[in-house]
Amino acid sequence: MSDFSQWPLRAELLEALTSQGMTVPTPIQQAALADILAGRDVLAQAKTGSGKTLAFALGLLQGLKSPSGVQALVLCPTRELADQVTQAIRKVAVRLPNVKVSAFYGGIPVRVHVESLVHEPAIVVGTPGRILELIETGALKLEAMNTLVLDEADRMLDMGFEPAIQAIRKGLPANYQTLLFSATFPDAVRALSKSYQRDPLEILLDTDTRSEHIEQLFFEVPANRKNDALLQLLGQLQPAQALVFCNTKIDCQNVEQHLAKAGFDVCALHGDLEQRDRDEAMVRFQNASVRVLVATDVAARGLDVSNLPLVFSYELAHQADVHVHRVGRTGRAGKDGQALALVASGEMARVKAIEEQMGMTARWQRLDLSSIKLAPLKAEWKTLVIDAGRKDKLRPGDILGALTAKQAIDGKAVGKIALFDTRSYVALHKSVADRALQLLRQDKIKGRSFRVRLLSP
Ligand code: ADP
Ligand code: MG
Repeated sequence: MSDFSQWPLRAELLEALTSQGMTVPTPIQQAALADILAGRDVLAQAKTGSGKTLAFALGLLQGLKSPSGVQALVLCPTRELADQVTQAIRKVAVRLPNVKVSAFYGGIPVRVHVESLVHEPAIVVGTPGRILELIETGALKLEAMNTLVLDEADRMLDMGFEPAIQAIRKGLPANYQTLLFSATFPDAVRALSKSYQRDPLEILLDTDTRSEHIEQLFFEVPANRKNDALLQLLGQLQPAQALVFCNTKIDCQNVEQHLAKAGFDVCALHGDLEQRDRDEAMVRFQNASVRVLVATDVAARGLDVSNLPLVFSYELAHQADVHVHRVGRTGRAGKDGQALALVASGEMARVKAIEEQMGMTARWQRLDLSSIKLAPLKAEWKTLVIDAGRKDKLRPGDILGALTAKQAIDGKAVGKIALFDTRSYVALHKSVADRALQLLRQDKIKGRSFRVRLLSP
């Protein structure tokens, strides 16, 4: 029996949790759910990967009173995170088919969002800037709102969203529940809670950011040998996947190109890319059709990869708490992880700050760069793109059905299917990718033909 049944959750939610194998609440869920469900304000700090999203998603879905009218607003710092939260809510809402959850953020014409709001969602997720814009244009109406969620509050403050959040609050009705989630707990978050929340339940977990599951190692490497060091370490360790953090977009591009040239299946993720390319990079990393993702901290924020064995700092972050976030991307859900950092002589002061913040002494390891042995990480999967998505009423089952009809392709060779409004991404085992492409070009999906192509490599 599911431990989630200790709360009076709707049967549809319990069923969804059970069918997705989520039967044991994480510590933050255990600590917060009763009060979230009771409508109390909650201030919750727990490290990245601890299951904060599900904690508030269950509260929002349980609290819905009617299928229409915006009843909950979730503010997130980045578009990627907004998408991820939206997907997480939809996933647990699968058995509540009439509940619409929508994401709104910049980079997409406001007009598109205004039009989509004609059919009001029950739950709105978005970045503060765009949400404010939609309130101001009158497209987003929040009179029926019961719950405000501030997700990754620490990061929203870092990104300067406080004035936008403040302005959004001015347009909200008098009484609503405020749920505030944060991975860290600096004074600014405490102050935010003080001014926005009424007698909140405070939950502070893992104030100790060390994790026994994560092995952290530092390598002193001259700045001009970092690319070689990266090739050497990835080749030696052969991780299933790795997330490489850079401090700048330029570094991201250079490192990606360097790895691609060496034969790695790799993608870059940073703020200079078009939204579409950012989506694609995320999807390809999540469906394992790239083995290495090279990203800036902001772009990788909220990226949820449950089984990430290795994170890399190509350069140490300038702030210790950013480093802590990087390290927290691995070793999630009790799995083992490694966090490696390449440190040039100019970065030594940052090591000190990290040691202080994390309450540990850095473990240094030697790296022999006299000869570089190339062993590029190649993916076993490819990504196929279909130029049609949710707006075309496409569902994952339609795509799977078209591929596996008449046993053309073994269902096991079809991986993750990710649906966006106007595009869909399908992971395919390399051995069947070309066949799948031909198949979808010849035959149709639900009787309609769409443009399809494979992403290189
Ligand atoms: P956070 O927001 O705290 O960083 P997330 O909410 O993104 O963490 O959760 C991290 C991962 O843990 C997600 O993949 C989520 O599906 C998974 N997860 C959350 N709660 C549970 C649970 N009770 N049992 C199993 N997996 C869970
Ligand atoms: Mg989160």
